[in-house]
Amino acid sequence: MSELQSNLAKLEGYLARFREAGVQNLIGGAAVAARTGAVFRSVSPVDDSVVCEVAKGGPADIDAAAAAAKDAFPAWRDLPGAERKAILHRIADGIVARAEEIALCECWDTGQAIRFMSKAALRGAENFRFFADRAPAARDGQTLPSPTLMNLTTRVPIGPVGVITPWNTPFMLSTWKIAPALAAGCTVVHKPAEFSPVTAQILCEIAHEAGLPPGVWNLVNGFGEDAGRALTEHPDIRAIAFVGESKTGSMIMRQGADTLKRVHFELGGKNPVVVFDDADHDRALDAAVFMIYSLNGERCTSSSRLLVQASIAEDFTAQLVERVNAIRVGHPLDPATEVGPLIHKEHLDKVTGYFDVARADGATIAAGGERIGETGCYVRPTLFTGARPDMRISQEEIFGPVLTVLPFATENEALEIANDVPYGLTAYVWTNDLSRALRFTDRLEAGMIWVNSENVRHLPTPFGGVKASGIGRDGGDWSFEFYMEQKHIGLALGEHGIPQLGKLPGGAP
Ligand code: NAD
Repeated sequence: MSELQSNLAKLEGYLARFREAGVQNLIGGAAVAARTGAVFRSVSPVDDSVVCEVAKGGPADIDAAAAAAKDAFPAWRDLPGAERKAILHRIADGIVARAEEIALCECWDTGQAIRFMSKAALRGAENFRFFADRAPAARDGQTLPSPTLMNLTTRVPIGPVGVITPWNTPFMLSTWKIAPALAAGCTVVHKPAEFSPVTAQILCEIAHEAGLPPGVWNLVNGFGEDAGRALTEHPDIRAIAFVGESKTGSMIMRQGADTLKRVHFELGGKNPVVVFDDADHDRALDAAVFMIYSLNGERCTSSSRLLVQASIAEDFTAQLVERVNAIRVGHPLDPATEVGPLIHKEHLDKVTGYFDVARADGATIAAGGERIGETGCYVRPTLFTGARPDMRISQEEIFGPVLTVLPFATENEALEIANDVPYGLTAYVWTNDLSRALRFTDRLEAGMIWVNSENVRHLPTPFGGVKASGIGRDGGDWSFEFYMEQKHIGLALGEHGIPQLGKLPGGAP
């Protein structure tokens, strides 16, 4: 039996219960159907088959979940940090124990290749361990003495929070948002993406098996404009941590305005990889190819614009075309596959629509540029050349395995092109000139920049974007800043003078 066949057989075993009972909501520790009984179907992009039915939650389910999160909040907030730490580590253990199930289900639900997803589950476990270890110190503050007062600060969890996640690497991203919320002492209502619901239920189950008290983590499936909207408008939900498209972020900000929601947004990107002629070309090529064609290009930090210095552009692009044409597109459960099918027919139409846009705007399709087959959502890895920085293919987030090449002559021109987009999530710079690296990164408009490296995530560092790419930072202590409120307490050191209103000079009132 090939590895693909063996993975398919294992997958059927893992999916059997979802095929029978569907993906459900988990509210107050219990698996439940949507209040209305409504369901929707999740479809696999591998072969267009139905994965399973999914509870179609709406405002009534969000209400029940928010009530459960509100009830559970005081006890979870007051649980000693060391106990929260122990539970979060047990959740990480549970993820590791079920890593194969998570990886196979995620591949089938999203089309992501197993070579990447097998690590996503383990990265999810790492996210839990990282924030688990920080839970005991999450409330720590400062002492800021003044001449009259001993000023103390402390942090308290903000309350029940809503977490709304997208369909790209949904398991890992859910852990990235939910682990710090729990470590901080918040309770959670999670609304996962409608295109990829399966692993969110597995994750929530693992948490309960690890001893998380009922109501601390609630899961409501459903559509954005329905369940998602109700969550962002709910008066008992104190904050919304959202990962998704920039235009959805704007909608959420409007929806949350009446209840003055605190928001944390991780949004879209059109990230540049800038290759100067003094760079290590081979390593720059490896990184540029990896950062746009891994994870099907459905990656917020993907380097979707290649800015290459004119003096090396011809050679570099020729090598790039060869590499892009050699990328192995195939079944996501085949370990040899490098690019699997895109998430959904709707997204396939969006991505292939840009092939027409490129042609109409006068760019060249140097590689790919077509759908593969009639079944599933497969597309050929694509490279656009002959583009101008103002073209739509250079400005808009395509979110697929599609790269636009933009040559530049000087450092200033590179900077201008790099910054001339609405987004500012990540940037990648390749040069061996240290002064240039320092100068250039200082002026780049991006929340995260790597020099002579692909995106290598280190959890204590801040993760987030500028401009239309987001508001706020995750990682390290930054996550706690979002999920917690600062509190100041001033204690008088003695009998300092207090202004005496209404008291007559020299005596009694
Ligand atoms: P999306 O914005 O369409 O959906 C994300 C989530 O928001 C889903 O759960 C959806 O149901 C929900 N939603 C939609 N409308 C809503 C509304 N009106 N109110 C409340 N919730 C609503 O995004 P997507 O297509 O699922 O994901 C792809 C996008 O996510 C890309 O733009 C990508 O760059 C971005 N992303 C960003 C990061 C980052 O860290 N910056 C990470 C991953 C993905």
